[in-house]
Amino acid sequence: MTAQLNPRGDVAVLVPAAGAGVRLGPGAPKALRLLAGEPLLVHAVRRIAAAPSVHTIVVAAPATEVEAVRAMLAPVAPVTVVPGGAERQESVAAALAAVPAGPEIVLVHDAARALTPPHLVESVAAAVRDGHDAVIPVLPVVDTIKEVDATERVLGTVDRSALRAVQTPQGFRRSALIAAHRSAGDALTDDAGLIEKQGGAVMCVPGSELALKITRPFDMALAERLLTTGA
Ligand code: C5P
Repeated sequence: MTAQLNPRGDVAVLVPAAGAGVRLGPGAPKALRLLAGEPLLVHAVRRIAAAPSVHTIVVAAPATEVEAVRAMLAPVAPVTVVPGGAERQESVAAALAAVPAGPEIVLVHDAARALTPPHLVESVAAAVRDGHDAVIPVLPVVDTIKEVDATERVLGTVDRSALRAVQTPQGFRRSALIAAHRSAGDALTDDAGLIEKQGGAVMCVPGSELALKITRPFDMALAERLLTTGA
């Protein structure tokens, strides 16, 4: 059944899904790889659409797959699909340009975090609504972290109590994300990084283990297992 988005919602979610997914091994673009018989992107969009504040979803698809992605998502939720770019940041910019007037909160969410629960979409959006221009979901770092040189010689041990692993969706006041993209220089792996570079404040909220990034074959196996337990 196609989900209905909330016409009175104040949140647009951008889903960059145009990456090749080289680290998963050879095959289709990552967002279109199957997890329990359905593309990662379908899992991701279904969960976003279940978040009550979501008004609009814009997906940036691989340029050659735009029609296929439109057809694939039509039964899942009403979604706008645009061609992505060569870098993630370009894909985000293309999706941002397609957001209609209305939503003042914009979330950027990787298709690769396919099992992200709807409540995480809501908690990030709520923190932006509370007045933060940029909000990221994070988890504590559990491993000991070493800094090394180019020859793998250890330079030192980093204090992990001050470190966080960052997930998506990352949330922004719409005007702040537009301004950050407008003056972006080098490509960064996340959008909050653009705000930081310009001296803006970025606030953390608790992330979710279920928002793991499906990057390597092991992550795919773990995600399959999590689905059997009701994720
Ligand atoms: O490559 P990485 O794992 O960092 O990609 C994170 C997300 O960005 C994925 O959902 C991927 O599809 C997307 N992406 C994109 N356009 C690119 C590269 C990555 O939309 N050119």
